[in-house]
This record gives sequence, structure tokens and C-alpha cells, in this order.
Amino acid sequence: MKRYIFVTGGVCSSLGKGITATSIGNLLENHGLGIRMIKIDPYLNVDAGTMSPYQHGEVYVTDDGTETDLDLGNYARFTKSELSKLNSITTGQIYQKVIKMEREGQFLGRTVQVIPHITDEIKSRIFQASDGEDVDVAIIEVGGTVGDIESIPFLEAARQFIHDLGKENVLFVHLTLIPEVAGGELKTKPTQHSVNKLREIGIQPDILVCRSPEFLEKEMVSKISLFTNVEENSIISAYDVKTSVYEVPLIFHDQNLDSIVLDKLKLKSKGIDLKEWQSIVDILKNPGNSVNIAIVGKYINLNDTYKSIYESIYHGGIANRTKINLVKIDAEELEKDIDLSKIFSNINGILIPGGFGQRGINGMVEAVHFARLNNIPCFGICLGMQVMVIEYTRNVLKLKTADSTEFTPETPYPVISLLEEQQGLRTMGGTMRLGKSISFLQKGTLIQKIYGSDKIGERHRHRYEVSNSYIEELEKSGLIFSGFTKDNNLVESVEWNNHPWSIGVQFHPEFLSTPVNPHPLFTSFIKASTEHLYE
Ligand code: GLN
Repeated sequence: MKRYIFVTGGVCSSLGKGITATSIGNLLENHGLGIRMIKIDPYLNVDAGTMSPYQHGEVYVTDDGTETDLDLGNYARFTKSELSKLNSITTGQIYQKVIKMEREGQFLGRTVQVIPHITDEIKSRIFQASDGEDVDVAIIEVGGTVGDIESIPFLEAARQFIHDLGKENVLFVHLTLIPEVAGGELKTKPTQHSVNKLREIGIQPDILVCRSPEFLEKEMVSKISLFTNVEENSIISAYDVKTSVYEVPLIFHDQNLDSIVLDKLKLKSKGIDLKEWQSIVDILKNPGNSVNIAIVGKYINLNDTYKSIYESIYHGGIANRTKINLVKIDAEELEKDIDLSKIFSNINGILIPGGFGQRGINGMVEAVHFARLNNIPCFGICLGMQVMVIEYTRNVLKLKTADSTEFTPETPYPVISLLEEQQGLRTMGGTMRLGKSISFLQKGTLIQKIYGSDKIGERHRHRYEVSNSYIEELEKSGLIFSGFTKDNNLVESVEWNNHPWSIGVQFHPEFLSTPVNPHPLFTSFIKASTEHLYE
């Protein structure tokens, strides 16, 4: 019998439910169990593809091209859970399916209701996502905060798991906040209230994970236990970690969270092995040297928008035993009349991330131009690669008004544009290249050496492409087209000749990097950055 762990959150959002869920997954995997991570998002959107980065942070893309919540990125970095469209469930998908079934007459004239029709569909989606002989435990993170109207059907479905499968196969982990008030006192009242909210809908949490500034004293734990009926040993302090979120599985293990979970679910460990993870945290705590990496983007004030890119840079740091200082630069600032050599005076490497829309593009072009002329390692990802091509066309081919038709539809030099067959489709959606596809790398190029292979599989999420009609001229003037798709020869990567380290990729390597297996492009980029000495 498979086991199901539901992770809910109380008091407020952004407490780290994703990290809690995936850290439990990490520990169970390190005990030799097969796990599957599932995210429930109670919003009505069918997927995260259309959501603004301002509201929802990064859109994480899976191999099969599903545009999902960024928590799936956390799952990918902490665990080996398979991730596909099955692992991301939204209210929009559930209702869409049930309404479609109703229209097809599948309910035989019965009244279609939240209980049982919506809850049955939720349960069936969870079973589908956790199917597979290799899966011992499914960990289901319920997005939102207990008490939200939207999450009620999901919590009701979760409650029914106990009814359907028996208490011994289902576990509820509730993440809550123990805030500090004036005078430094820690308060348990919000936790009591949020546990009460859960109980109102028939769920008694088995484990409480308490976010607090520091480790909770015994007295505090006893008080929380008394009010919530959760055993004292099952009240875990998720205190603020000093170095990295990658410490969280270890601080949970120190408090026996993994043994408690195994015990409650009557699961047997195949022997715990945390050596690999421990060594990652050791490197993060005791790095050798350090580098300053500039990210020149447009959503710089929001931490979550470039989440996988930031994490991948840290992974590159782990691989090189190097501390990363991220220097976030708002691309629009570079469009003003400022001295770039001051801005980049202590920068070892420049990364231009993906993005959509015109804002900040010319600032990114400035940054790329500066990196090219000053031999600073430069890594362009998706939009970043397109900017590298635009910059080269403007400054080397001297076609000063060259642009992407995404930003200037009437540009006389559309060096980045939609493919002809996409043009009529533009307003109809469905024109995005999404998910994993194969690229072929040219022998002797930097990127081919880094991968050590001519054929790679990477994930895409973009609409525009390098216009093939410019390739010949750009190549003659020194831009190296280092990777292509097979069939239609779309450009997949570029690099500059006579430059220490420059790579632009049309795909998103950041979705494949993990602390255990840092992506080779990020490892190489950070290595090159450690070798770049600024004046
Ligand atoms: N806006 C560009 C495109 O659609 C780049 C997308 C991205 O960076 N993900 O092609």
C-alpha cells in the first residue's frame, strides 16, 4: 500500500511549504524509498503559463512542456521525483475536467456537486500522479493557506484519504508560523488558530513544522502540544537557516523528522545516507574563494522570478567550491547615461536571463556589449541569447536598428523573429516551443566541449527564433552558431570568437541543474568567472 503525506500551511503564505515538502521527500529518498512530489494550486488558472511573474514568480517547465508552479523546481532540486503534467494540479484543471464530463453526459443525469464529483476527481488525479511500482510515498503540497475558500475542496479530498485508505497510510504535516513580537517573545496563538481551522474540516495534523526565528525551547513545544494535540516529538522547529535552504533536510533530520514519518506510516528505512547532501551543505558553509555574478534582468526586485537561474548559479558555485555573490542589476538602469565600467567594476561574470516584452532590452544589450569588449564571461539564457545576437548585429554588422520583432515589429532588420509558419497564429496562442527537445552541437565549440557531447536534450519556453537569413553574415563577422535543432535548423546556441567565455542558449539549462548534479554550463560559467580578474 502506498502512503500519502499531505503538507498544508497555516497563518500566512511564503513560509516555505515547498521547501518543507521537498525536504521530507529528500529525507525519505535518502532512506531508500521511492517518492513522488505533487503540487496542488487552488487557483482557477489551468496552468501557470499565463501568470505574471509579478504575481507568481518563475514558471517552471517540465520535460513534457507543462508550465508549472515554481515549487516543482524545488522538487527537482531536492529529489529525484518524476515531474510531468500529472504532478501539477490546479482547481482550473479539476473543474474543466468535471464540467467536460458533465457535458458529455457521463454523470447520467445526477446533480454534479463539489462532494463527491470534484473531490473524486481530485483523488483520482493524486492517484494518477503517484502511480508506479517505484513509488512508496506520495507527498502532496496543498498550496495556499488553511482557511482560504479555494483550498477547501482539496482539504476535503485529503480528509477522505483517511476515510478511504485508513489513518495508518496518510499523514498530515502542517507548516505554521511562530512569530516574534516586540520584546522578542515568541507567540503560539496563530498556530493554535490555524490548527483549529484544520480540525474544523476534520483534519488533525500529525506533525507541526513551526517556522520561527530560532530553535523552539522545550517549554514552547509543550505549550504548542497542549493546545494542538500534536505529540511533542512531532513538533519540529523550522528555524531560520543561515546559509542556504539546502540545510533544511539536515535540520529536520537532526530533529528526527524522518524517523517520526517512517514510524507513523510504518515504513522501513533501507538505511539512511546523507553524506552527499551533507557535503553540499559543508561546501556552502565553507567555500574557498568567491565571485561576483551580475544578473541583468527586468524582474530584479522579485526574488522568485529567476529562482531556477539563481539556484543553478549556486550549484555552479558548489561545483567550484566558490561562494557566489549575486549582484542583481535592473536592466533599465543601464539605459540611462551611466558609466558601465563603474557598474561592472568588480563583476566576474554577467548573466542575462530569459524574459518577455520590450522593457529593459536595450540595457541588456549594453551589458552584453560591455562583456564582449571587456572579456567578461557572459552567459545569455533564452532572451539572453537573443540579446547577444541583437547586440552583435547592431554593433558588429552595424545594423543599428536591428531588433527582435517581439520588441519592434516594424524593424528593418528582424534578426530575431517568428518563424513564417507561426506568424498567422500569433494571437491564437499555442505558438510557444515548450519542453524538452534535442539540439546538435558543432564540433570544436566551447559549448560542445562543456557538454562533452554533440547531442543534448534541454527544455525550451520561447516563441521567437534567430532569423536564418542573418546567419551567414553574422558568422562571417565572427559570431559562432554552435548549436542547431536537427530538422529545421533553428539556432540553439551562439558564442563569440576571441573571447574567454561566452555562451548564449535558446533553451533553459537552469531547469535541469541540481545541487547534487550542477549543470555543466553553470559549472563552467562559474569556473570561468573565478578566472576573470577585473581591473
Ligand atoms: N521573449 C522571448 C521569446 O519568446 C524569450 C523567451 C524566454 O526568454 N523564455 O522567444
